[in-house]
Amino acid sequence: MGRRVFIRCAACGHGEEFFLGVGTLFASLVVLQDYLPQNQREEIMALYRECAPDEAEFEERLFVCPSCHRLSGRLKVHLKPGGVTRFVSKFHCEDCGSQLIERTPLQIKKIPCSRCGAKNLKVEAGPSSR
Ligand SMILES: [Zn+2]
Ligand SMILES: [Zn+2]
Repeated sequence: MGRRVFIRCAACGHGEEFFLGVGTLFASLVVLQDYLPQNQREEIMALYRECAPDEAEFEERLFVCPSCHRLSGRLKVHLKPGGVTRFVSKFHCEDCGSQLIERTPLQIKKIPCSRCGAKNLKVEAGPSSR
């Protein structure tokens, strides 16, 4: 199941919402094709067709930029047909181009706020309705 996570800076109030784990809602990567990077879509789908169901993982995960500390939710794809890793998604920061690092929401406490720089990010459960 997907879960909504709201990450807010306790210092400046800057907050962002992420909906993580969404991929697991879908039985097949085929329905998520549109979310794959266009230049990698063919490669990913070709490898995906070689994968047994337990050899393909795809899930919305939280990523952070090591330079400007911008957070982003990205669809991470990990394909290992025949048990061998052939594809793992890599992402780059839209602002500065650095390669993003995957983090769990529990690990974000050590990350400075992208707006004010304070290491005071808090994870809140998102609103159940809005
Ligand atoms: Zn960046
Ligand atoms: Zn802040």
